Amino acid sequence: MSAYKIIHHEFDVVVVGAGGAGLRATFGMAEKGLNVACISKLFPTRSHTVAAQGGIAGALGNMSDDDWRYHFYDTIKGSDWLGDQDAIEYMCREAIPAIYELEHYGVPFSRTEEGKIYQRPFGGMTTQFGEGPPAQRTCAAADRTGHAMLHTLYQQALAHDARFFIEFFALDLLMDDDGICRGVIALELATGDIHVFHAQGVVLATGGYGRIYFSCTSAHTCTGDGGGMALRAGLALQDMEFVQFHPTGIYGAGCLITEGVRGEGGILRNASGERFMERYAPHVKDLASRDVVSRAMTIEIREGRGVGEHKDHILLDLTHLGPEVIHERLPGIAESARIFAGVDVEKQPIPVLPTAHYNMGGIPTNRHGEVVQPRAGNPDAVVPGLYAVGEAGCVSVHGANRLGSNSLLDLVVFGRAVANRCEETLVKFGKPKLASQASIDKALSRFDAIRHAKGSRPTAEIRLDMQRTMQSDAAVFRTQSTLQEGVERIGKVHASFKDVHVTDRSLIWNTDLMETLELENLLSQAVVTMSSALNRTESRGAHAREDYPERDDANWLKHTCSWLDADGTVRFDYRPVHMYTLSSDVDVVPPKKRVY
Ligand SMILES: Cc1cc2nc3c(=O)[nH]c(=O)nc-3n(C[C@H](O)[C@H](O)[C@H](O)COP(=O)(O)OP(=O)(O)OC[C@H]3O[C@@H](n4cnc5c(N)ncnc54)[C@H](O)[C@@H]3O)c2cc1C
Repeated sequence: MSAYKIIHHEFDVVVVGAGGAGLRATFGMAEKGLNVACISKLFPTRSHTVAAQGGIAGALGNMSDDDWRYHFYDTIKGSDWLGDQDAIEYMCREAIPAIYELEHYGVPFSRTEEGKIYQRPFGGMTTQFGEGPPAQRTCAAADRTGHAMLHTLYQQALAHDARFFIEFFALDLLMDDDGICRGVIALELATGDIHVFHAQGVVLATGGYGRIYFSCTSAHTCTGDGGGMALRAGLALQDMEFVQFHPTGIYGAGCLITEGVRGEGGILRNASGERFMERYAPHVKDLASRDVVSRAMTIEIREGRGVGEHKDHILLDLTHLGPEVIHERLPGIAESARIFAGVDVEKQPIPVLPTAHYNMGGIPTNRHGEVVQPRAGNPDAVVPGLYAVGEAGCVSVHGANRLGSNSLLDLVVFGRAVANRCEETLVKFGKPKLASQASIDKALSRFDAIRHAKGSRPTAEIRLDMQRTMQSDAAVFRTQSTLQEGVERIGKVHASFKDVHVTDRSLIWNTDLMETLELENLLSQAVVTMSSALNRTESRGAHAREDYPERDDANWLKHTCSWLDADGTVRFDYRPVHMYTLSSDVDVVPPKKRVY
């Protein structure tokens, strides 16, 4: 192991990840005078945030009557009451200044006639506490909002002289024996050098783990490395059973067709051309929240009303919108449909299918982005030195089901919140207590073992096994028997990682090695996701159990916390949902039946 060249750095804070969440956190810290580094396995503007299409929610009220309290109510209802109401209050109130801040940073939002930020309707976004018409709340830059945001945020980070370590792959957290995070260790992909970052704080902003599924909308790089590192550090992840399936992934290819298409008036149709959502959500129809629409589509297909030779998909019709709306508001979608489905959206509907899209679960945090764990007598015990934001975290504003356009919002609101927290609590240009040699050695020996893995199974083969298992056994609808079988199957796939074979032993741009490191991170989260789904015997939000069709607040109005032991077993504990608000400007929304 002495063969590795090790370079040491000291910072106040190290942010891992340069997507929307990581960049907002990074320049927020730089702006406040903290000595901050951002490390990213990708060039920042290649992060998955770049692919976000539909927009970012905030009750600006530019195009319809709106109020952040309505947004608060909708988000709680969308979360099926599993979201923490203090964090939701914070996010929905802060949405308005956060979006104006983005505007002033230079995000090129689409505009109304009077020059205000254009806002479109999105699923589950309503007015008058669910009683009024759909809200026009989602601020958009055509159908390329994430692209516009990510580039602007990167420019801001450069303007604030933040220090970047680009194409550095974070391997593990460096935790001391008292459970305090002292830094992070990373591989420089271009040289093979190992870098040890000693810091007072480490912020995980590593994005989701969508790639545990065979068909998903997320990039190949969405491998949940932060969650993998947290599990290896002996920390619990939260609410991992809740995976969002987006109703409209392109049939076959999996690429996303934004909900903004339905916001602009697009309609889902079954084989007989029926607008079937009228039967499932009479009030808001195609604009019901994503879990509701994905289940309705799955039922239509199961009951024989699917489209195509195998009756296995649904059509998204936007032919009636007219070329003007399509060119101005949905140009990217027209292009994706042409390339990936061979469809001219002005003349033909797009074949679509529910596709794994977003992870509601992740590393549990409070509304300051500080990682929390349930400990004896304290369900919200802070892990000193460790923070998580963005899709890697679980704050939890999305609860059991995220509303479309609330994630881009979550990135900037909590990216900023964590920067504020670090400014309040860390010593500027302080000397971090150094990570122990034992923690560095432990991380290096794991890395070295994977690099020299001489088993019989290629990484890609194990990965495919995992993705197929998750796709078939942890799908839109779940039952005891599919989940039980799923737990056994995924356990075997996880165990087979011991037999992985890495072919390339070099250290320079070794993608074989990197994919294997990513696979280990994915596998641990696949196991936890499947077990958590078996464990939760109710239906709530995106977690639909056919054997337990009702929500069970008496037993399950609580967050699942799950640990993965070295032998592959999953342990559970729970945290109460925060059923309180931060101010008297809003009232707690008590659970009630969720209908759209
Ligand atoms: C196709 C698509 C469309 C979407 N559209 C919308 C939308 O319209 N509105 C909305 O609100 N939400 C949308 N979402 C969801 C939203 O875009 C994501 O949840 C969000 O962008 C995640 O941002 P992030 O900053 O947490 O992570 P990401 O943008 O995924 O960035 C992760 C970062 O972590 C870094 N990283 C990861 N692992 C490591 C490692 N081991 N070492 C070093 N660096 C690492 C990567 O380099 C990257 O910079 C969409 C998602 C998808 C997939």
